[in-house]
Amino acid sequence: MAKGENVERDDCQGRERARLEHCPECGSVDMRNNLYFCRGQRLRVYVQCASCGSFVARYILRGYTSNKTYESLLGRMRDTRLTSGKRTMHLVEGFGARIEEEYKRVLDLVKTDEDQRRIEEIIEDDYPESLE
Ligand SMILES: [Zn+2]
Repeated sequence: MAKGENVERDDCQGRERARLEHCPECGSVDMRNNLYFCRGQRLRVYVQCASCGSFVARYILRGYTSNKTYESLLGRMRDTRLTSGKRTMHLVEGFGARIEEEYKRVLDLVKTDEDQRRIEEIIEDDYPESLE
């Protein structure tokens, strides 16, 4: 695993699903991500429908991956603890071959075998432990 890439996907073989986010009000798949930052709390993304403006969903992030490589990210950070390599980046993750592969895989899944269940159904069916 390349440094800066720590996404869990190794055990998803045969169990992975993908789906486009749909607006519950108008059905659009055009979304706007509103990012919320509050020190000491996890990053939050409030998804808004770009077509009708309705609230669609809120996501709480454990990590963030940009389109920059790890090395390029280090160069963009002002913190010398990061650039000197003395500190591991837990929150920010660099873009790499693995992420690109995952991204293409998800786009392909959505295109060829999109999960037609509502997100609530997917959570109920596939993540029962989260409802306990
Ligand atoms: Zn909408």
